[in-house]
Amino acid sequence: MIKQKRINLSFESKAVHAGELNRDQYGSHIPPIYQTSTFVFKNVDEGAKAFAHEEGGASHIYSRLGNPTVEHLERAICELETFGMENTTSYTGMAFGSGMAAISTGIISFAKGKHVIAQDALYGCTSQFLKEEAPVLGISTSFVDTSDIKQIESELKKHPNTAVIYLESIANPTMMISDIEAISMLAKEHGVLVMVDNTFATPYHIQPLMLGADAVVHSTTKYMGGHGTVIGGALVAKKELLAETELFLYRKNLGGIAGPMDAWLTLNGVKTLPLRMEKHATNAMKIAQFLEAHPNVEKIWYPGLESHPQYSLAQRIMRNGYGGIIAFELKGGFEAGKSLMNNVKLCTLAVSLGTVDTLIQHPASMTHSIVDEEIKKLAHITDGLVRLAVGIESAEDIIYDLEQALEV
Ligand code: PLP
Repeated sequence: MIKQKRINLSFESKAVHAGELNRDQYGSHIPPIYQTSTFVFKNVDEGAKAFAHEEGGASHIYSRLGNPTVEHLERAICELETFGMENTTSYTGMAFGSGMAAISTGIISFAKGKHVIAQDALYGCTSQFLKEEAPVLGISTSFVDTSDIKQIESELKKHPNTAVIYLESIANPTMMISDIEAISMLAKEHGVLVMVDNTFATPYHIQPLMLGADAVVHSTTKYMGGHGTVIGGALVAKKELLAETELFLYRKNLGGIAGPMDAWLTLNGVKTLPLRMEKHATNAMKIAQFLEAHPNVEKIWYPGLESHPQYSLAQRIMRNGYGGIIAFELKGGFEAGKSLMNNVKLCTLAVSLGTVDTLIQHPASMTHSIVDEEIKKLAHITDGLVRLAVGIESAEDIIYDLEQALEV
């Protein structure tokens, strides 16, 4: 008997086929890279209609406005972030040249001249942008511990002009988790948007839009690309919201769209996202357990461990495991961490994360060195904190490497 074609694909199948439309005129199996700056019009009328957004206009004008390869990636990320939701066609994705381009362009267009309530523990450049550049553009920010909803409530009272609550689904680097569902409900009561950086969790573990958030951003440089070969970003939100806030216009004129080659490389990564995330997460769990039991480890942050302050929240909002990043502090503080980072052999001393190989770094002197001292203190980004972005090598090999480096 012929099996009926399944309409509701699993997340794994969706990732492999995400963003696919019809094949090109040659029947290419893998979509081509439209490595072109501009597009040819058949005649003046077609060009003019394209500029006027009228029917009968050319589908593409210039690659800073839109490009078929970039649009393929945009559809793919949108499909994964809205996976399993009912009203998926009301959402759209936008690809950017970096995670920071997605974050800054999103914040500028959503919060124009208003207030942002941001999580205290944020990726260093996001924190610096909100603290230093956004005020020049008329956007003010207060930093709070978003895992404590009371702090958000009190900031909302203090700042009735709040436009955006900004947080990371798993915070960089302290692995703090916020209750996106409760925060989104509170935000709706106040007519405020919730914008979530889902870089660490990816839609494999957490889907902020499903939990009620209004916009999701990514550094696709990380798990989406997955192989450390591109710098890229993405934003997914309702088409209506993007139209209202003129995000397309901001991306066009700030010029932050992704390039076609980078979009294509990222698309290759997206296809194996679930496969890689599964291995990142199972490895990270084993390594987190090893580190927690190690006599030299003072403290460890991993949402899959019962010792994590939001373990029960992680169980509620995360699925398929708890991601691939671990933060920990050694008993000997910064000097011990430095010795560990200088003596690993398989793990690589480098910033970034989400690559197939394991990366280790020191947030206080590297990714978060630009974060205000006061915010660092609030967010528990101590001098002794080490961040491990667990790769997909064998967990036993990574543990062996950490063990020998810890002995030194
Ligand atoms: N968001 C998070 C959580 C990050 O870790 C990073 C980079 O490390 C970014 C955003 C910025 O992304 P990009 O480096 O692609 O601009």
